[in-house]
Amino acid sequence: MALMITDECISCGACEPECPNQAISQGDAHYVIDAARCTECVGAGDEPKCMAACPTDGSIVKDPSHVETQEQLQAKYETLH
Ligand code: SF4
Repeated sequence: MALMITDECISCGACEPECPNQAISQGDAHYVIDAARCTECVGAGDEPKCMAACPTDGSIVKDPSHVETQEQLQAKYETLH
C-alpha cells in the first residue's frame, strides 16, 4: 500500500529528501506522493522514512486506493532501483 499526504500537511518539505524512491514532490496545495514510486519504504528500511521525518501528526497516511502486498512493494522497489 502506498502512502498519501493529507490536507494536514504544512508544506515544510522535511519528507521530500528522505524518500529513497524520489516519490515525493511539491504539489499545488501541499506535498504529494507518487503511488507508483512509494513502497512504504519496503526494500529501504523498517519504517516509512517520510512519516518519521514529518513534524505533524497525521499528514502521511496509508492510501486505501493503492493496496499492495509486501511482495508487490518489494518487487516495485527492485524495479525502481
Ligand atoms: Fe517514499 Fe518511503 Fe514515504 Fe513511500 S513511505 S513516500 S517510499 S519515504
